[in-house]
Amino acid sequence: MTSLDTATTAGSTVREEGRADRTDWVSAIPFFAVHLAPLAAFFVTVTWEDWVLCAVLYVVRMFFITAGYHRYFSHRSFRMNRTFQFLMAFGGTTAVQKGPLWWAGHHRIHHRFTDLDGDVHSPRDGLWWSHVGWILSTKYKATDPDDIRDFARYPELRFLDRFSWIGPWLLALGCLAVGGWGGLVIGFFLSTVLLWHGTFLVNSMAHIVGKRRYATPDTSRNSFFVALVTGGEGWHNNHHYLPSSVRQGFRWWEIDPTWYTLRALAVLHVVRDLKSPPVRLIDQARVRDGAFDIGMFRSYWERAAKLTGNRPGVPGPQPQAGDAPPEGGAGGLLRPEPSIPDRAPGEAGDPAVGVSDGVSVLQALITRAMESADQLARATRRTKPPPSVEPAGSLPPPS
Ligand SMILES: [Zn+2]
Ligand SMILES: [Zn+2]
Repeated sequence: MTSLDTATTAGSTVREEGRADRTDWVSAIPFFAVHLAPLAAFFVTVTWEDWVLCAVLYVVRMFFITAGYHRYFSHRSFRMNRTFQFLMAFGGTTAVQKGPLWWAGHHRIHHRFTDLDGDVHSPRDGLWWSHVGWILSTKYKATDPDDIRDFARYPELRFLDRFSWIGPWLLALGCLAVGGWGGLVIGFFLSTVLLWHGTFLVNSMAHIVGKRRYATPDTSRNSFFVALVTGGEGWHNNHHYLPSSVRQGFRWWEIDPTWYTLRALAVLHVVRDLKSPPVRLIDQARVRDGAFDIGMFRSYWERAAKLTGNRPGVPGPQPQAGDAPPEGGAGGLLRPEPSIPDRAPGEAGDPAVGVSDGVSVLQALITRAMESADQLARATRRTKPPPSVEPAGSLPPPS
């Protein structure tokens, strides 16, 4: 059983409290060491070819992440035969972002619980956490097979997932052989650091900075800058609206090199069945047309509610023996959701209301307000909610 399993209560996943949420500094040493490695460039000979190698490895490995790990393994937005599937997975491992099953499994959780308590890297838990903290914690080291059962049935993918270090080591040795120490330091290590943070921007900045076209139930944004450095992944609001679309830039000016490349590969019959965004959905559920932006409302409302010591509409952890009561009394998350009394607190005829009762009623009101907002959002959306990730296990085998 994974840590995620143990954290699931009453249909809602809540983050385990304690050390699992903190950076594991010992196991994070290699992560920081790789960041320092490019500084060795001051002590070795670096040629222009090493910089070209750096750029090429950034672009190519970014493609393996965006097309392979993300659009194929996480969302199955196109198809490949088993050989190309393996090569795409192997290419992904060279980006030093763990194995394809781990990556895609956790990304599916992000889509299932976006900006809710079960989200693995929501910026609501802090910029550091969303960018890199969640990877460096012990919380999400394991992969729940149920999240990626459709691909976990391939032994070659399980092998790559378990031995995901093989690709990076082979690539690093290749860089050393081709470019010497300069090739290793700039070609491999510097491009790896840039690649990491380019990819991580989608988890952090693409939920903080940018424009929202669609009224999705999360905080995703469209960002030209993030699209530029990620080969088209910056159109993150588009992506959360239609996750199974292989194309993430919906307009001609929304650059999406990953999609351009996949189209070229489709001509060569390397990939096929590219899922396009349904035309009838592209111009619907837009914020500018009046669709109620439940994602941002929820975000702002939650931040305001936190000031009262409450988290709206989200069941909290059960109190443990010895837990101190939360600030402001015994209300808030550590109590079952209270019912709203017929009379408002303090109304004539109402029995004396204590501070803790007041907090309880406030929490109930906050929860009810959130429910009303959800209803409003559903009513203003002109279509059904966008299709989410299909249930695992229904993908026909590659042919
Ligand atoms: Zn997202
Ligand atoms: Zn996604």
